[in-house]
Amino acid sequence: MHLLETNKLTAFYGDFQALYGIDMLLDNGETIAIIGANGAGKSTFLKSVAGLIRGAADSVLLDGTPIGARPAADIVKLGIALVPEGRRLFPSLTVEENLLIGGYGRKAAGPWTLDRVYSLFPILRERRSSAPSTLSGGQQQMVAIGRALMSNPRVLLCDEISLGLAPIVIADIYAALPQIKVEGSSVVLVEQDIVKAMKVADRVYCFQEGRLSLAGPPRDLTREQIHRAYFGS
Ligand code: ATP
Repeated sequence: MHLLETNKLTAFYGDFQALYGIDMLLDNGETIAIIGANGAGKSTFLKSVAGLIRGAADSVLLDGTPIGARPAADIVKLGIALVPEGRRLFPSLTVEENLLIGGYGRKAAGPWTLDRVYSLFPILRERRSSAPSTLSGGQQQMVAIGRALMSNPRVLLCDEISLGLAPIVIADIYAALPQIKVEGSSVVLVEQDIVKAMKVADRVYCFQEGRLSLAGPPRDLTREQIHRAYFGS
């Protein structure tokens, strides 16, 4: 049995079909990366797994149990947390309050506490009473990741956590991933930077116009295959 599995997952925005039959697997301790051009359906996929877009009940399985029809709040409690694109912090709350909000839907047991998040990202302890808008983009991203971790997720879904950040800041954020894995979360990354995705992922899934165009461990994929799967030619 797999930790997380999607089974012919489809997604619609009204009449527009954004995903066509996506099959994906994630096992305990794995990191997988989803790559693909703008509009390929990567964010839609994460939102579908997180229950923000509703698909068929049996199109998303956690430990083999269908969860596709469960409301998003239940899905957090079951152990799936999303770090959304654009971070979506609560602007009128402090850094610490943003982190605490992530803990409201938490599973009973798990390693993540405020202290643990502050050990992972020490700058957040210093900025704990600040408004998110006064933080740098990288620090805001750390808050968004910390907020998701506070729910003690078994699956952490990360939507473009490096978008718009300087390379040195991206390196800081990626440096946290091994620690997150040690604490028991498996990770699904949506990543525009293919080189970065290939470095950290056990398997890469490429989306093209809502369809899975390629999947496999990075070492098995050639540049040509990836280019074709990404751009379609
Ligand atoms: P990006 O890197 O630009 O975020 P993506 O691969 O994450 O791209 P999605 O955001 O999942 O792609 O979008 C997939 C398709 O669904 C696109 O054609 C997009 O225009 C469409 N789409 C996304 N959100 C909505 C929405 N709320 N209403 C209608 N169509 C949408």
